[in-house]
Order: sequence, then C-alpha cells, then structure tokens
Amino acid sequence: MLYQQSREESAEILRRVLQLMSPHPAGYHPLSYTVWYEHAAQLNPPLSQEVEKLLASASPVSDADVRRLHALHIAARDVEMFELAQRDLRELIGRTEQDTADAEETLGHFTETLAAAAQQMAEPEAVPALIGSLLAQSEQVCSRLSALHAQLARQREEVVGIIERLERAHIEPQRDPLTQLANLNGLHRAIEGEDNPDGLMHVALLAIDIDYFKRINDTHGHVVGDKVLVKVAEILRERLAGDDLAARIGGDEFAVLLRGKSLAAAAALAETVRSAAQRMLIVHPDGAQFAGDVTLSIGAAAARAGDSLETLRHRADSALYDAKSAGRNRVAVAAGGESR
Ligand code: GH3
Ligand code: MG
Repeated sequence: MLYQQSREESAEILRRVLQLMSPHPAGYHPLSYTVWYEHAAQLNPPLSQEVEKLLASASPVSDADVRRLHALHIAARDVEMFELAQRDLRELIGRTEQDTADAEETLGHFTETLAAAAQQMAEPEAVPALIGSLLAQSEQVCSRLSALHAQLARQREEVVGIIERLERAHIEPQRDPLTQLANLNGLHRAIEGEDNPDGLMHVALLAIDIDYFKRINDTHGHVVGDKVLVKVAEILRERLAGDDLAARIGGDEFAVLLRGKSLAAAAALAETVRSAAQRMLIVHPDGAQFAGDVTLSIGAAAARAGDSLETLRHRADSALYDAKSAGRNRVAVAAGGESR
C-alpha cells in the first residue's frame, strides 16, 4: 500500500499536516488532507516540489490550489496507471476480434463446401471422394478451432496478468520515499520477464551495506543518518549507466543491478562506490563536519546459468558477509566467479 506508515508515524505526520494546513484558507477536506499528507510524508516528490514553490511564494494556499495539486499529482497518477492497462486491454481485444474473425471465415468456407457437396451427392460414384475431401476439410476446421481455443486461453492469462499488474501497482509502491531509489519490489519488477528458463542473463549484482550504521545514528542522530542514506543513494545514482538500477532494499542495505557487465567490471565499479562513500562529509545541522565515518561493505556476484534474482542475491549477500567478516570497508567477490 502507498500509505505504509505505522500508527505512530502516521500520527506524527497528522500533526505535521495540521501545522502545515492551518495557516492556509483551503478547507480541511479529504482532498487537501491527501495533498498535505503525501507532501509531509515525502511520498510524492513532484507534488512536494510544487508545494514548496507555493509556500516559497508566500501566497496562501487556496482550495483551487489544492484541487489542482490533487488532480495533477494524485488523481493523475492513478489515471496514468489505468490508461496503460486500458491500452493493453484494447490491444488484446483487437487481437481476439481478429482471431475470431479468421475462425469465422474458415467455418464459412466449410459451410460453402458442404452446400456444394450436398448437390454433388446425386452422383453416387462421386460420394467416396466427396466424403474423403469433407473429412480432410473438417479436420482442418477442427485444428483451426482448437488453435483458437488455445489462443483464447493464452489471452485469458494475459488479462489476468494485466489485472494482477494493476493490483500490484496500486498496493505495492516500487520506490523508496527517502532516497527515491527503487525498493525491493521495484528491483523485482525491473527484472520481471527476464527470469526466463535459462535464468538471468548478463547481469551482475552488488549487495551493499553501510558499516556500523547504527553507530552513525547513535553518534550523529537519525536526521543525519537519513542524510547519509540519501548521499549513498546519490553516489550509486551517479555511477549508473543505461539500464542499470540501484535500489534501497532495507534500512541500510542497497543493491545495484548491472547489465552487460563482467564480474570484474562490477567489482571495479563497487570499488569506486566504496571509496566515494569513504570521502563523504557528514554535515550536522549546526554546520559541524565529519569525514571518514561512512564506510561500505560490498558483495559482488555475476549471474550464472539458471540464476534467478533470489539465487543471485544470495551469492552477492554471501560475498557481502565475507566483506563484513574480513573487517568491513571492502569489496568481496562471490566465490566461483561467473559461468558466462
Ligand atoms: P553492520 O556493519 O554489521 O552492518 O552494522 P550496522 O550497525 O550497520 O547494522 P544493523 O543492521 O544493526 O543496523 C542498521 C541500522 O539502520 C539499525 C536501524 O536503526 C537503522 N536504520 C534502518 N532504517 C533507517 C532509516 O530509514 N533511517 C535511519 N537514520 N536509520 C535507519
Ligand atoms: Mg549495516
């Protein structure tokens, strides 16, 4: 679900929402509440950008503003999702119509053949040949109809898939609201369809975990801890190419999916990430700066024949564990290398 906050977190957001809403003339109705809630909970960056602009202009936020923001950034998000599903369904219906029309034409030809045969039946010597030809054509019609049946069954599965996609898109957001990277669900969705019988192809995975992150939180506070997470995300984002994908898959755990990279190239990239994190400056709200407190342990693995995301993750995680037990702040490569 989009609104996944615990009771305590949502109560805190509610307090912030009321503070945010109270200076403005817009009413306290569900539309405006949703707008302010998504802004306060940092669930909707494009919406927040517009809200910040409005607040910076110092003009009061009116009901009209709220309705516009809701239409553009909340209702439109759902509409876009449904429009995509609508397009897929229209295409599917088009194909089903064409398949049915083809089958109808085949049946029409057969009916004409039957009518012609009925007239020729008057000549007894033609009957055996006629029956043979009718049987052959009837077999063709049967196989055409069973092909249509199989096609309809496949299309039914496609419809079920579209409905499931819609449901998942609605209940499982794919983005981490803090870092704006993909979350674990987003990572799964990114490789959906690549999990073919041969397994993932030409993919490498980095499993990344911040060292002693609990200590960073305890020493510098959670607000600074959050900033560190955002900065790690920036370091990853800056190093992505093409179809690569970075995700925050847990509290201080990240994963990077690299396409078309060898294990050696993935490990080299991991090394640049590790050294950039070590150079990170932690800046306190009072301006104090700390260097060298953020280090990363990284495990790198490359896909082998038959790998799924789970098996690949498992090997990258084992390598990450090796990096941790060897002293942290290092990159470890999964044992056994890659098979292609
Ligand atoms: P290790 O080197 O073994 O990884 O040690 P660690 O301290 O990083 O490991 P641990 O898993 O014990 O700690 C992770 C911490 O991350 C615990 C939790 O409080 C913190 N954390 C999880 N999510 C967030 C978040 O969104 N923001 C902040 N600031 N901290 C978080
Ligand atoms: Mg950690």
